Amino acid sequence: MKPVLSIPAPSEGTADALLKWFDENKRDLPFRKPAKTTRADPYHVWISEIMAQQTQIDTLVPYYNRFVEKFPTLDALAEASEQDVLKAWEGLGYYARARNLRKAAVEIKALGEFPRTPEALSKLPGIGPYTAGAVASLAFNERATAVDGNVMRVAARLMDSPADTALPATRNLISNWLLTWMPEDRPGDFNEALMELGALVCTPKSPSCLICPWRSCCLALARGTIAKRPVKSKKIKHRQQKIAAALVKDPDGRLLILKRPDKGLLAGLWGLPAVAYTNKQAGLSQLTALISEKLGLAVPKPVFVKNDRHVFTHITWQIAVYRCDLSVSASPKDPDWLFASAEALNQAYPLPTAFSKLL
Ligand code: SF4
Repeated sequence: MKPVLSIPAPSEGTADALLKWFDENKRDLPFRKPAKTTRADPYHVWISEIMAQQTQIDTLVPYYNRFVEKFPTLDALAEASEQDVLKAWEGLGYYARARNLRKAAVEIKALGEFPRTPEALSKLPGIGPYTAGAVASLAFNERATAVDGNVMRVAARLMDSPADTALPATRNLISNWLLTWMPEDRPGDFNEALMELGALVCTPKSPSCLICPWRSCCLALARGTIAKRPVKSKKIKHRQQKIAAALVKDPDGRLLILKRPDKGLLAGLWGLPAVAYTNKQAGLSQLTALISEKLGLAVPKPVFVKNDRHVFTHITWQIAVYRCDLSVSASPKDPDWLFASAEALNQAYPLPTAFSKLL
């Protein structure tokens, strides 16, 4: 459906009601601006917004605290090695975000100051329109919107919009519509309040309309169309893939790990020896042959341990986990493969959750 939005800005009190609700109900989060200050720190807003792209706010707080403790300033992040940044990101997934954070930190340091407009912020690696708008408004009080899925849902319900939010044009129209009634003096708070309303009250299922500051002006509530808003046509195709993965240990109990290719799923991260398969027996043979080739010796046939699964955005791995204990020491022939002690694994090699949960 073509996005059609010719809806005027809501009545004057709509923004005030939202901001009043926000002032009284917002969660106390470590990256929010301290009380009695007008804006938040751009470095902290940026880190938290990147983390929040795929992670619930409540879940990310301990990760955020650990990350900024390790990299308290932009300079500390810019000067860190990629492996250190990936290690600090461990458990959050979508590791391209961590790589881009470090790259962008290097660029900002070279610029000499944090860019403050959405246009300038959008030129940095990993910063799209949403993050650019969030950092510009929350940290610099720039009049910019930050429209993510939460905000689109809230806006679509408030104005009872039938526009398809899967279309990029709808995001632009919602953004332009919000700008027509964004308060001059509190653009950052307005954006944050929309996000908070979407997270705490106007949730995807069973929104709490009874306690919503917009219960008297929400068109979807008045017309009984909440369950149909927002309209979202595009479905992400999700596929299943069968994986055989091996826990190979040498006589010293060290685990065989490898650096994954620079492209594709979990690119450049450390992982376990693994192959994709359709036939289980053939997969096991392939896995055994791969390990033997990389170690330059014939390894015993791995023994089945358990089945597990890991869900990514577009794919689910159905993982058959095998174990293979070597009776002799071995030196991998491939420089991207090595044996790591438990301590080295913990300190130096970021093993993504898809693998670490199999140990
Ligand atoms: S009244 Fe209900 S549907 Fe409308 S914005 Fe509030 S929570 Fe969402």
